[in-house]
Amino acid sequence: MRAWHVEAPGPVTGHPLRLHPQDEVPRPGPGELLLRVLACGVCRTDLHVTEGDLPPHRPTPPGVTPGHEVVGEVAALGEDAAGAGFATGDRAGAAWLRSTDNTCTFCLRGAENLCPASRYTGWDADGGYAEYMTVPAAYAHRLPDGYTDAELAPLLCAGIIGYHALQRAELPPGGRLGLYGFGGSAHLAAQVALARGATVHVLTRGEQARQLARELGAASAGDAADMPPEPLDAAILFAPVGDLVLPALAALDRGGTLAIAGIHLTDIPPLNYEKHLFQERQLRSVTSNSRADAREFLDFAAGHKLAVTVHPYPLDAADRALQDLEAGRFDGAAVLIP
Ligand SMILES: [Zn+2]
Ligand SMILES: [Zn+2]
Repeated sequence: MRAWHVEAPGPVTGHPLRLHPQDEVPRPGPGELLLRVLACGVCRTDLHVTEGDLPPHRPTPPGVTPGHEVVGEVAALGEDAAGAGFATGDRAGAAWLRSTDNTCTFCLRGAENLCPASRYTGWDADGGYAEYMTVPAAYAHRLPDGYTDAELAPLLCAGIIGYHALQRAELPPGGRLGLYGFGGSAHLAAQVALARGATVHVLTRGEQARQLARELGAASAGDAADMPPEPLDAAILFAPVGDLVLPALAALDRGGTLAIAGIHLTDIPPLNYEKHLFQERQLRSVTSNSRADAREFLDFAAGHKLAVTVHPYPLDAADRALQDLEAGRFDGAAVLIP
């Protein structure tokens, strides 16, 4: 099978990814499913894995296969994998959270996204930039009807993380939400917030993204560091740019919350207490997601048809898709189709 590997993490323009044309199809281990990949979304985290912003977890050659927004067809079941209810031929999703220990204090209190023993698809184990991959059946997701494979892929990270970030931002009912950056994750979170009656203000570079925001129902769309037209009850920073923490905090109303959705952020400049935090404004991070978050979001997507803006690329063009993502050459989400 064809599979991409992160051979030498570094800038995407230097081709850190290599396509191997004849890898062996992996065998599903105990409790695992073998998926034939139908579509795999291209997430900013893949860029961080590829460029080395995230330390390599599998540095030995040939390096890990990225990709954690995987829509696949169950091609085979490993030993004892039937208990999770998947059968050969079913459509199943693989997301970023690949496994947890189920025993630590975080897992036991329902915060398995914080499990110190958690492992991740496309970082610790090979992901979906390939024709086949394996996933633990207990961590595979059932997918809603009414979407194409390509539309489902971005829901599996961009969608779930955006949903979890929205929870972390504690937007009050009917509240005013600011979204900083408007890529794959933000354009889905915006639709969830709008469906719940929020007023959404989008602040992002790129006229194309601002145009998409207005089409989806945003009340305003300005440049990344602009002040929104009204104070915000909550904000989510999707752009991996620490400089934007300051204008986002300054835009919050009293008691407002800013959630930082990314796994990686450039340094945050010094804060001014009066201007950025006083009046009980809160600054929070967002770390991965639990399976419960994923289920809740996918149930939401089953009941509300989300508009998913997809840019398909052939599997062989994964490096170009990452370069285009880094350069901001598309809005919505890139999806690899084997
Ligand atoms: Zn745990
Ligand atoms: Zn992701």
